[in-house]
Amino acid sequence: MASKAATKVQSRSRAVLRLIEAGSMCDCTFCGKQVKFRVRQRDQQAICNVYEEGVWRRVEHFHLECYDEASSPYGTAFE
Ligand SMILES: [Zn+2]
Repeated sequence: MASKAATKVQSRSRAVLRLIEAGSMCDCTFCGKQVKFRVRQRDQQAICNVYEEGVWRRVEHFHLECYDEASSPYGTAFE
């Protein structure tokens, strides 16, 4: 089975920035605390699709500041 280079690029872990929405129940991978929606705060989180050996494994959530502190483990988070 031939694997194409383009496919490999797409299956790397990546991070995006998203507003934390009401009802969010995720824990931050870095600090372990809940990524919590706050009324009137437009906080952002980093949502990471984590791939291992080209296979999707899981989604990880980080507080924006925690993602920075963790040195952006899945690359720069884009909006
Ligand atoms: Zn955190």
